[in-house]
Amino acid sequence: MNRDRIRLIALDMDGTITQHRTPLEPDNRAALDALSERYRLVIVGAGACRRIHGQLNGYPMDVIGNYGMEAGEYDREKGELVIVESQTVTVEPRDAVLERAARLRREFGMETFAGDSVEFHASGMITFPLLGTRAAIADKLVFDPDRSRRRPLYPAVKEAFSQYTVFLGGSSSFDIVPRPFDKLYALTRYCARHGIAPDEVVFFGDDYLEGGNDRQVYESGIAFVPVDDYRAFPQRIREVL
Ligand SMILES: [Mg+2]
Repeated sequence: MNRDRIRLIALDMDGTITQHRTPLEPDNRAALDALSERYRLVIVGAGACRRIHGQLNGYPMDVIGNYGMEAGEYDREKGELVIVESQTVTVEPRDAVLERAARLRREFGMETFAGDSVEFHASGMITFPLLGTRAAIADKLVFDPDRSRRRPLYPAVKEAFSQYTVFLGGSSSFDIVPRPFDKLYALTRYCARHGIAPDEVVFFGDDYLEGGNDRQVYESGIAFVPVDDYRAFPQRIREVL
């Protein structure tokens, strides 16, 4: 990677700069500060922009949410994130989705869950949380830290939701995303909007294996720095500083 050409650092959030669903910690905040002295920063996330911005304690940077269905730009004068794009794509009625989720739960032996079986986002994105929408964060974190429980189930979820792109999302869920949205599509559009070329971008992500939500970026040829533990992020940024 040619450091002199880098203009944009694009980052996954959960698992890369934070623990899943957990606020940004001081060491990683300092690492973002160091990066932002030299580069433009953007989060390319799976969650909604406002949730991401909140989890980062309002860190001043742009946020792409829901795999590109939503985009927020940080307004330095106002000191707030402004949502500049918000798309809604509904592929099919909720009943059809719920029915397929119920069938998968029977197949997987995962018919007990807390809260709802499926979470429908305003954008049209769907989350299929194996432990349910109201499971405790502690239970979610221990459920499948190395993704070995979800990997064998992934082909069945992918097949059941073949009109969508399916990812192993969060710590114990599948993200079911209307086409053509994914992080590569989102990042490409962001770059086009800001006149940034793909070879001027470096992406940091943790979920780059098959089914992971950073996979498309990883395979695209965009410079990619794998972060296998978010606590190692301050060390990983040395590659670009
Ligand atoms: Mg991640």
